[in-house]
Amino acid sequence: MSETKILSGKDTARSIYNKLNERIVLLAERGIRPGLCVILIGDDPASRIYVRTKTKKLKSLGLISEAVLLPGDVREKKVIKVINDLNNSNQYHGILVQLPLPDHINSQNIINAINPKKDVDGFHPENAGWLAIGRPRFIPCTPKGIMKILDHYDIDLSGKNIVVIGRSNIVGRPISILTSLNSKGGNGTCTICHSRTKNLENFTQNADVVITAIGNPNYLKGDMIKEQSVVIDVGINRVDADNEKGYKIVGDADWNSIVDKASAITPVPGGVGPMTIAMLVENTIEAAENFG
Ligand code: NAP
Repeated sequence: MSETKILSGKDTARSIYNKLNERIVLLAERGIRPGLCVILIGDDPASRIYVRTKTKKLKSLGLISEAVLLPGDVREKKVIKVINDLNNSNQYHGILVQLPLPDHINSQNIINAINPKKDVDGFHPENAGWLAIGRPRFIPCTPKGIMKILDHYDIDLSGKNIVVIGRSNIVGRPISILTSLNSKGGNGTCTICHSRTKNLENFTQNADVVITAIGNPNYLKGDMIKEQSVVIDVGINRVDADNEKGYKIVGDADWNSIVDKASAITPVPGGVGPMTIAMLVENTIEAAENFG
């Protein structure tokens, strides 16, 4: 049997940054330096790390990248005022509000307040609509990154059975659309499963590609997939471990039972994660190119 291919998001991201650097130079020749502003509300440690990682990466590429920190009890009106100011700023081509938000804030109201032409997360209903009709403008970073990994490793979805587990607006829903679009890289037959799906393994056992995005450590076992399928593991789960930190990060897929059965799999960490950041950089550059 052929060896399982490890689909490295790190390697894919590296080749993408090389191409993005050329676009950054072209923008500089037009006098444009792409800029992103991230809004972080409250002091959730995981969100802080995500924001720091994102802003650091953009800065390392020479882009403008700032974070606005707001207290956890900030009023929704105040957040919308900050967004409006950023909408009117020439410095920032992209605006991102780090999710999840505190319970007293309506996330949809916040997303709706972002100028869709600066919505580099692709969560605004206008951008979700463009994607749904097959004319994407800003594609949400994680699903866009998954499509790039598949492309990088020449995994063709055309005519394949794809099963997506999870139906969030951030990952599951948009990747189900992208994999089934009538466009290059798409043309798969996609089924989307969720917590109400009955006998979920009946779907995954018939899938050529399983994309799992549920946030449940080691949920997808080897006996739930068919031989030689491709597994894309989006999950990021912290589990106890006997190491210095006291924890480790694992995906939704149970590596040990899957690795010898699948033909290809994304590792966690080092798979989809690095691609999410690369796509945020790409979307910010796209915003500067198209609307800067
Ligand atoms: P989410 O909003 O919580 O959505 C989870 C989805 O999974 C829901 O649709 C839920 O179904 C479904 N689900 C939960 N348990 C299930 C089960 N046992 N069987 C079937 N479906 C189940 O999560 P998310 O934001 O999409 O994130 C999912 C995971 O991806 C998390 O681990 C997150 O940390 C990770 N993530 C990683 C990246 C990255 O860059 N690698 C980016 C974003 C997210 P219902 O709709 O029925 O509740």
